[in-house]
Amino acid sequence: MKKILVTGGAGFLGSHLCERLLARGDDVLCVDNFFTGQRRNIAHLMGHPRFEFLRHDVTFPLYVEVNEIYNLACPASPVHYQFDPVQTTKTSVIGAINMLGLAKRTRAKILQASTSEVYGDPEVHPQPETYWGRVNPIGPRACYDEGKRCAETLFFDYQRQHDVDIRVMRIFNTYGPRMHPDDGRVVSNFIVQALRGEDITLYGSGAQTRSFCYVDDLIAGMIAFMDTEGRVPQPVNFGNPHEISVSELARHILILTGSASRLVHRPSPIDDPCQRQPDIAAAQRITGWAPVVPLSEGLSRTIDYFREIVPHATPFRDA
Ligand code: NAD
Ligand code: UDP
Ligand code: UDP
Repeated sequence: MKKILVTGGAGFLGSHLCERLLARGDDVLCVDNFFTGQRRNIAHLMGHPRFEFLRHDVTFPLYVEVNEIYNLACPASPVHYQFDPVQTTKTSVIGAINMLGLAKRTRAKILQASTSEVYGDPEVHPQPETYWGRVNPIGPRACYDEGKRCAETLFFDYQRQHDVDIRVMRIFNTYGPRMHPDDGRVVSNFIVQALRGEDITLYGSGAQTRSFCYVDDLIAGMIAFMDTEGRVPQPVNFGNPHEISVSELARHILILTGSASRLVHRPSPIDDPCQRQPDIAAAQRITGWAPVVPLSEGLSRTIDYFREIVPHATPFRDA
């Protein structure tokens, strides 16, 4: 039985990861400061004999004994990470240093939840891991993008300098149950707006694209990546290459919810990337993993979740 530390374990991805690790028999230590995570995400795990929760901020040192570390602690949506940008950078950078120091001392394997945002607004499409990206280092997204880029630097320096066993996972847009309804991300915003009968807010033209991965697929990839043997000398993209525009996504959600909401346009956020699609050849070669949940299926499951938690959802057009 392995003892596994999950930082950011009360968040959207972290809570699914804790659940999956417990289900396969691991001992899980979940660390979170509840900055964007929610108690209800892990409430059902609290009585589990192999689950332990510690309220802690990863910008402070942490001395525990573990075999593996999944470092997910970091606000992830633009609304959340821009709320306190200095703390966002500290969480990525100082959090990475502390978790790498912990991994070095305990000889634990450590996985970093990096992001497609390291590519910024890309000129290369789809994005392979060899592309160095186009990030504005002083814009409002920089606290997240550059924080994650610096964390990647630290991971590869700890690999080279201290022989720490690292996995750097570049996660592309992921959605599913337990997304925060107020995180401002496109999938949660559109579903909540559709369920409440409010206007669906397209930022800019709506022609910008993203590629959305269902959470179960992403977590399966994360565990498969951690479980690979040997030195991995590069970061690896994980996501679903199925690319759609934001306006297509809105129409999809309107159909699936049966909502009569209208589409309205709002100004485009500064530095909003125009297109994004993962090249997942490396993930497939290294882990054999590929996403399997189609967008319509994943969105339906996510809509079911939001129907439960969003109060005052308006009746559906054909209900
Ligand atoms: P989330 O906001 O739901 O989860 C992040 C968790 O980290 C929260 O529970 C939060 O309370 C916790 N946290 C934040 N700062 C902390 C700190 N200083 N100390 C301890 N805990 C702290 O976001 P998520 O979508 O679950 O993202 C998880 C990770 O995956 C993040 O590192 C994010 O950057 C990365 N990621 C997510 C996506 C996505 O589409 N969801 C895409 C790319 C990368
Ligand atoms: N650290 C930690 N837990 C540990 C070991 C280290 O939080 O079990 C922190 C420690 O506070 C240090 C950081 O990780 O600031 C980096 O540790 P490392 O050993 O790499 O560097 P050093 O201690 O020499 O600065
Ligand atoms: N977006 C939108 N309306 C919203 C929320 C987001 O049009 O209500 C757009 C946003 O401008 C971006 C895309 O959807 O182009 C994805 O945004 P999100 O914040 O989910 O993720 P990220 O930009 O970090 O990929």
